[in-house]
Amino acid sequence: MVHLSTELIHADDKDNRVTDVAPPINVATTFRYDNNDLVAWNDRENLDFMEKQPVYSRLAHPNSTRLESIFSEILGGHAVIYSSGCAAFFAAMIHLNPKRIFMGQNYHGCRAIANILTRNFDIKQYKLEEIEEFAQEGDVVHLETPVNPYGTSYDIQSFADRAHSKGALLIIDSTFAPPPLQNVWDFGCDMILHSATKYFGGHSDLLSGVLVVKDEEACKKLRDDRIYLGTNVANLESYLLLRSLRTFEMRVLKQSDNATRIVKFLDENRSKYDKVLDKLYHSSLQTEDFVKRQLNGGYGPVFALTLKSVDQCKKFPVKLEYFQHATSLGGIESLVEWRALTDPYIDQTLIRISVGCENVDDLIQDLANALQYLQDNA
Ligand SMILES: *Cc1c(COP(=O)(O)O)cnc(C)c1O
Repeated sequence: MVHLSTELIHADDKDNRVTDVAPPINVATTFRYDNNDLVAWNDRENLDFMEKQPVYSRLAHPNSTRLESIFSEILGGHAVIYSSGCAAFFAAMIHLNPKRIFMGQNYHGCRAIANILTRNFDIKQYKLEEIEEFAQEGDVVHLETPVNPYGTSYDIQSFADRAHSKGALLIIDSTFAPPPLQNVWDFGCDMILHSATKYFGGHSDLLSGVLVVKDEEACKKLRDDRIYLGTNVANLESYLLLRSLRTFEMRVLKQSDNATRIVKFLDENRSKYDKVLDKLYHSSLQTEDFVKRQLNGGYGPVFALTLKSVDQCKKFPVKLEYFQHATSLGGIESLVEWRALTDPYIDQTLIRISVGCENVDDLIQDLANALQYLQDNA
């Protein structure tokens, strides 16, 4: 088997069209036909030709094809690339067309898409606890793990078993722990979603999303639908994402290691900050057996904590030097967010932290300083 770091750099070698070592940025929306090989659309057996001969960039373009080559290898299935994680989730809903969706805590954007489906098409929404009671053939269980904004994990295999026993399908949003941290196929899901905006992009400068399926027919349908949904990844973004992927493994492993060490520090020093720090959430603090089995390549780089007051939540980000106060996650720069600023459904004293690639001792010192300040002024 070829390893992750090699696939990230070479899985798209087969898509080389020119001798350039760095793939060119293509801005064309339309591409000249090969006048020596003219085949009518109706005479095409499939859409594979677009990978060699792009037609129009809403269908496919050279760097979207490269991205799908790499993602298909590293995510172990047939990958379909989108303009954002939300676009990918919407595409999954259109493709699977469930009558009922089962969701728990998850990314608020996916919830909002489900709300649109409920409003327009009367799709029913249920809690994860209601699978046994209400799920039927063709319904969708959508599980995010590790889950936003806590960074804690759910047992994928148990949800796969529960969904499948009712004939429902399981989608896993694995954005918070891409491989090599977590290999979701090992636990029996049917479709995988990643917001590539996060760890795959890794530099807080592009939007993209990806769906992965095992079934080639499903992949073809998704790509065909995407032509008309108009949600292919954009030209310039695809170049940025391609460049990001080359260094993905190094980044995410460092982020994972940094986060695990920071959480350990905070956990061991809780008593020092007893007037500030309330709860601490991260998969590394969970004791259930499945957590280590699922995150066998390392814990996710996002964790959360709650502070004793809303006032402390407003001051904490300001006192940090290296953690920038902004939403999102996955970039090489560490971020902190008083989550109430963007998430209407969340605990008002929750702080989410996305750990970047800085030196871990500097990050720990930074957090310690801010917590000490709040402790002294509490
Ligand atoms: C960000 C995010 C999304 C949505 O992705 P976008 O690329 O912002 O559309 C979906 N799921 C999770 C877990 C996310 O963090």
